[in-house]
Amino acid sequence: MALIVQKYGGTSVATIDHIRRVAMGIATTKINGNKVAVVVSAMGGETDRLLNLVSQITNYPSYREQDALVATGEQVCSALMAITLESLGHKAISMLGLQLPLITDDIHTKARIMELKTEKIKQYLNDGIIPVVAGFQGVTSEGRISTLGRGGSDTTAVALAAALQADYCEIFTDVDGVYTADPNICPKARHLEKISYQEMLELAGLGAKVLHSRSVELAQKYQVPLVVKSSFGGDNHTWIVNEEEVMENSIIKGVTLERNVSKISLIRVPDRPGIAHKILSPLADAAINVDMIIQNASIDGYTDFTFTVPTTDLAKAKELVSQVAKEIDAQEMLAANNIVKVSAVGIGIKTNPGVASRMFKSLSGENINIEMISTSEYRISCVIEEKYGELAVRAVHKAFELENGSQEVEKQ
Ligand code: ADP
Ligand code: ASP
Ligand code: MG
Repeated sequence: MALIVQKYGGTSVATIDHIRRVAMGIATTKINGNKVAVVVSAMGGETDRLLNLVSQITNYPSYREQDALVATGEQVCSALMAITLESLGHKAISMLGLQLPLITDDIHTKARIMELKTEKIKQYLNDGIIPVVAGFQGVTSEGRISTLGRGGSDTTAVALAAALQADYCEIFTDVDGVYTADPNICPKARHLEKISYQEMLELAGLGAKVLHSRSVELAQKYQVPLVVKSSFGGDNHTWIVNEEEVMENSIIKGVTLERNVSKISLIRVPDRPGIAHKILSPLADAAINVDMIIQNASIDGYTDFTFTVPTTDLAKAKELVSQVAKEIDAQEMLAANNIVKVSAVGIGIKTNPGVASRMFKSLSGENINIEMISTSEYRISCVIEEKYGELAVRAVHKAFELENGSQEVEKQ
């Protein structure tokens, strides 16, 4: 008998028919003699629908109240799944974040898990009841509803698997595993049987939304065996494992596209010590994650300062930075959200100097202008115009011959 946590994403539970099919799969796992705890997302499109209601009211909502609203998507779905399981003759019970409880910090819309209590859920499992946990949501120490960031149900599932010391955690979604690029935009993307936690963490953090990056971080930290499968059947799947268990050692493991990227530029900023800190510290205080930063060479004691933030935080970031712009006497503040970030990811990057030039060549071959570049040991990222995003993914994928699975990088 195994203890399994199964998570079903939005498209897998998009309609009552889908929920019924998923419920039958859960029931089979149980009938086969396993204990199973289920985590569900909201029905496909529901979180976007709720956020759209908010945007019809204001660009500056209270994040606390926005969380209270969007968490209802998962509440609806967990109750519908429990009703369906019971209608099939299995004992089931829905559990909200505050009923587990899953306690988070109070950074609304991107809260982090502080503690997950398991007494109640263990009791249900021991009594032969299938708990159906509403993913993505938690409760703050003040008793307010919080959410873990878009895609956060994966994180609920892995945290639950870690806390329950489950044998493994299955993430059921609308693709049959992790590919070398999003198979929906790159038809030549290759299915991966295994990928290391480290590489998956990079892919997820750079836009491969098949797994929420925090879920991979937790899986690695608590050594939760994690597998991605299709909820629509088929034998393919991808295990996320420790680095030494991955036999294939390619230089580049995958290519990602991050759409939630915007940039803010401050034009003609006086170039003196402390300016970067002055511009960026209000963003840090507001828990806004600044990613790439570019400061131009100084001319006549002035410089231009550009950085990226998630588009979901753009309105708030603009509000904060425009105040600083006045204080430091910047000439102008510009903002744009028609950009995306394309990244090549792989543990071979640090030891293969030709990787960056090969990526830049593939983009220039498609006449795509690179606006910003950043690199680390494991990745090279380029910010480009949004309209070229998907083309760029295909071009970089082709340049590294990812469809074949082996690459050689020429020396610069
Ligand atoms: P769910 O609602 O089940 O959580 P998501 O939409 O969050 O599903 O994640 C699944 C999607 O992730 C796929 O439909 C696919 O378009 C996208 N995706 C992006 N990058 C990858 C990748 N490298 N491998 C597989 N899927 C990817
Ligand atoms: N429903 C939430 C979202 O759409 C969480 C999730 O699906 O994981 O982002
Ligand atoms: Mg998801």
